[in-house]
Amino acid sequence: MIEFHVFPGGKKRVVTFSYDDGHVNDERLIAMFNQYGVKGTFHLNGSVSDNKDIEMLKKRYEGHEISCHTVNHGWLNRMPYQSVVNETVSNRLLLERVAKHPVVGMSYPCSYAAYNEAVKQVMKMCGIVYARTTKSTMGFHLPDDFLEWHPTCHHKDAGELCDKFLTNIDSYWTGPLFYIWGHSHEFKTEEDWAWMENILEKLSGNEKIWYATNFEIYQYMTAQKSLIISMDETIVYNPTSIPVWIEKDKKQTIYIPAGEMITLERDED
Ligand SMILES: [Zn+2]
Repeated sequence: MIEFHVFPGGKKRVVTFSYDDGHVNDERLIAMFNQYGVKGTFHLNGSVSDNKDIEMLKKRYEGHEISCHTVNHGWLNRMPYQSVVNETVSNRLLLERVAKHPVVGMSYPCSYAAYNEAVKQVMKMCGIVYARTTKSTMGFHLPDDFLEWHPTCHHKDAGELCDKFLTNIDSYWTGPLFYIWGHSHEFKTEEDWAWMENILEKLSGNEKIWYATNFEIYQYMTAQKSLIISMDETIVYNPTSIPVWIEKDKKQTIYIPAGEMITLERDED
């Protein structure tokens, strides 16, 4: 039996952060992320015609992911489809000037209720491969549908969940992904920043955890799902350019290098 809940380096847990709206406070938050060695995804608004300072944005978000949040931060499920297209495509065009690579992530603006099936279809047509909601699950499960990626919790609710995540870090039964979202403009006082620092202190520096951006998680899980596996599960081919790890029979972690075919030993029982 093969299971996919293993991440780069054979790690069994993942932590990611996702912050919306692109605020100047992102600079202090990123400095903290860098200090603690964690990765964040930052969902920014705007279009090319806004004359944003591209170089400033590039410098601010260096080492982290830039991702879409639409141009005007409206309710996508209340718009004509063509407006959803414009809001997404124009936003991508700006962010790709900053990032200098394809920007294919999104977080739906406004509300947990601001997207629907039609909006998801438009996202696909605009080349968006993942989109985060604000529906906190309070759990640690991997997303089933990347265009409806529900986070674990907002940072204000992360305190006790950090302890739960770390207590169960070796458990087979607990989900592997702790996904925290928020807005850096919510950090108004030093106490607010201290709360965030406390969360980072708890979750950082753990060799059992992979610290990744949203897109890195999408990319890795997509590569895992692209594995081509013989029916008796003894031959595994990785056709992608991304090395992946899998678990066999709940006990063995197996590394499948990019582009290689691996033959696993058959259990003789
Ligand atoms: Zn927002």
